[in-house]
Amino acid sequence: MAELEAVIGLEIHVQLATKTKMFCGCELSFGDEPNVHTCPVCLAHPGVLPVPNEQAIRYALQIGAALNCEIAPRSIFHRKNYFYPDSPKAYQISQYDIPICGAGRLGDVRIHRAHLEEDAAKMIHVGESGRIHGSGASLVDFNRGGTPLVEIVTEPDLRDAAEAAQWARLLRETIRQLGVSDVNMEEGSLRVDANVSVRPAGSEELGTKTELKNMNSFRFLQRGVEAELARQRELVESGGTVEQETLHFDPASGSLTSLRSKEEAHDYRYFPEPDLVPLVPSEEQLREARESLPELPVARIARYQEMGLAYDVALTLATDPRTAGYFENVVEAGEGIEPRVLANWVTGELAAALRQAEVDGGAADSRISPPDLAKLVRLVQEKKISHGSGKKVLAAMVKGGGDPEKIVEREGLAQMSDSGELEAIVEKAMADNPDAVEKIREGNNKAIGAIVGAVMRETKGRADGGEVNRLIQEKL
Ligand code: ADP
Ligand code: ZN
Ligand code: MG
Repeated sequence: MAELEAVIGLEIHVQLATKTKMFCGCELSFGDEPNVHTCPVCLAHPGVLPVPNEQAIRYALQIGAALNCEIAPRSIFHRKNYFYPDSPKAYQISQYDIPICGAGRLGDVRIHRAHLEEDAAKMIHVGESGRIHGSGASLVDFNRGGTPLVEIVTEPDLRDAAEAAQWARLLRETIRQLGVSDVNMEEGSLRVDANVSVRPAGSEELGTKTELKNMNSFRFLQRGVEAELARQRELVESGGTVEQETLHFDPASGSLTSLRSKEEAHDYRYFPEPDLVPLVPSEEQLREARESLPELPVARIARYQEMGLAYDVALTLATDPRTAGYFENVVEAGEGIEPRVLANWVTGELAAALRQAEVDGGAADSRISPPDLAKLVRLVQEKKISHGSGKKVLAAMVKGGGDPEKIVEREGLAQMSDSGELEAIVEKAMADNPDAVEKIREGNNKAIGAIVGAVMRETKGRADGGEVNRLIQEKL
């Protein structure tokens, strides 16, 4: 049987961080006492009329611009009808066949569309479940009802669970940097559904998909998709067929349970919302949305890769714009030093030193100025101090700031050169470790570590590793 390929598409709900709800003036809140942010509009009293939130439209246009979407000159709101206590109107105002944002792209993944809609109220299930005899109950908190949402739908361009989680992280970071949402998965301001199918590798046709609902962390997203892919592969490989259904992944047990099958799928009877006029963004609004964009992660990653940084390092910086700004200042001060090396110091050694010293905040908040860090890296690059000493100087700088050259002097960390002093220390280390010397002679090169280690202890890390190695070889 041909190998099976995974096909994944994501649907992401983003709660917009506007001041007020999508169609009324109620304040947005999280964690407030239930049902304090409500009004006749979001409680669906008879005769009320929705008024669209201009800030939400602006945010949707910014998301569209960031995802390179075609913006509809005239998009339409629809009613999506369903009957459930989280929706007092018994329909959700959403968009259907003409969404505000059409086809776009983020990184390697095509965006199918992104549309504006309102969130449902929050259901809270308490006590024991059981429809009639159980002591359980379902409570409704209407604070969330009517919160503006943008739903982003990708094309099925993702090919494995890890890739899906990584891309979702990139999307979250992009939206976070736009400043249009809190993108907090635990609090539900970013919610991800994954559509999953398998097909013979090389096939163009799509297999039947299942939908995993509402995974509230990227790790769970990855694990859920992995579990579902494994289930589908096993099923198809043993001659079965995948049934279309909606699934819930329980991260605690790792199990998948069916929420509803195709037969139970809703018919939402979409029809145009008669109480709202079409949404027609002005030239001015479109221009503002484009011009408001900061340099987003995808662009920053590309620019850093061009500077010679590894993808992972570029990604780390692109998801932390303040540290990225710091890094760029270090590059400016470190003329002649490869940006790649400087980036490694910023995201590696400096980040570790800050963690070690339990300093709050990142590089940009630290006591180390970018020119001082560049100066330190230069001392290491020019072999004035060893790499190990460089880390010691960095630790001192994290605590008290200051000029690295002065710290080197004060602490006596200047590198031992190829002087008689180092040679004598190497000779002594070899004499003290006859077993290791014997092993090296027998061809066990790993044994050299014991001697290098002894030299480093003796010199307090001031010796250059390469030089020590050379001296040992010379003396064997
Ligand atoms: P539905 O009508 O069930 O909502 P859509 O065509 O609107 O399905 O697609 C919803 C999401 O599912 C999109 O992200 C899309 O990329 C993805 N998708 C569609 N078909 C498949 C498939 N066969 N396998 C994986 N993902 C799919
Ligand atoms: Zn309201
Ligand atoms: Mg859909």
